[in-house]
Amino acid sequence: MKYLTEYRDPEMAAAFIKEIQQITTRPWTLMEICGGQTHSLVKNGILEMLPDKITMVHGPGCPVCVTSIGVIDEAVYLAEQPNTILCSFGDMLRVPGSKKNLLEVKAAGADVRILYSPLEAVQIAKENPDKEVVFFAVGFETTAPANALSVIQADKMGVTNYSILASHVLVPPAMEAILSDEENKIDGFLAAGHVCTIMGMEEYYPVAEKYKTPIVITGFEPVDLLQGILMTVQQLEKGEYKVENQYTRYVQRAGNKMAIDAIQQVFAISDRTWRGIGPIPDSGYEVNERYKNFNARLKFKLDLPPAEENKECISGDIMKGLKKPKQCPNFGTKCKPEHPLGAPMVSSEGACAAYYHYSNTDNILK
Ligand code: SF4
Repeated sequence: MKYLTEYRDPEMAAAFIKEIQQITTRPWTLMEICGGQTHSLVKNGILEMLPDKITMVHGPGCPVCVTSIGVIDEAVYLAEQPNTILCSFGDMLRVPGSKKNLLEVKAAGADVRILYSPLEAVQIAKENPDKEVVFFAVGFETTAPANALSVIQADKMGVTNYSILASHVLVPPAMEAILSDEENKIDGFLAAGHVCTIMGMEEYYPVAEKYKTPIVITGFEPVDLLQGILMTVQQLEKGEYKVENQYTRYVQRAGNKMAIDAIQQVFAISDRTWRGIGPIPDSGYEVNERYKNFNARLKFKLDLPPAEENKECISGDIMKGLKKPKQCPNFGTKCKPEHPLGAPMVSSEGACAAYYHYSNTDNILK
């Protein structure tokens, strides 16, 4: 197939659904990793079309949802510093910190700017040499190359008033944390196609082998997702646990070498706390020693007190696949997109927002 519309073709989707129905003999629980995949599944009504034996649960692949309250507090603190411009992707502004969010800080007069690229922040730093400019560098492996390039660019340009607040998170350690949870009930994964476009497939083979769990790297359109589900169920029905690639139009086994080189030049692997899930060892990127002058945590000597999670939000259970959004007692009542209690109701990739906007069924497990 050559064109995007072909991956939205209703006849092809129907053929995959029929094949999934024909081969499914037992109940299987599958997790799609990425919030973009969750939105496509819910928005296109795929959950309702799958056989009852297939349960889709929604993973931690929404960067806004997993950025910890402590990191939001750090961003709020930086935004409130005098002579400081805090730049961020727009989704992060409404995510609650322990006391306030970035939007409230902006409304109170802080210079918080919404950007589409960290390279714009380097330019802002160049144009404002009397101010410190910080880019709030959140995201998975997908956004890490651009954030790394911004640091490399600032270094080359001699822009010393630029730094990043790195909050990168990595998919394979999160999959391992979910699979090793004693309550885990996931039989197979749809891995995130865009992450693997950057990082390739190699990191997934040991995970599939260790946990005897099939992993199918999958795209984001309805036909992609249905084919990914079919490939996963085919493996499960045969007792196999391989890494397969549905997203062949973008993903190559070795990934994107230039992007990986940029990441390795600027970042080091670090421990990271995931919102709702907790600390996961070696699950993030932090600015490395070579570029430490661009690390906002060091530049501003950040050492804030630990922040408590909102106990009313069960996002951790949702992102570990233990619950569905409508099983949260606050869904659609105390927690709505206009007044979110948790990040999954804020983000355009959050599972709770997907169900709130698109889910038609009253069945809380669909
Ligand atoms: S509905 Fe709101 S409170 Fe419940 S898990 Fe989702 S974001 Fe958290």
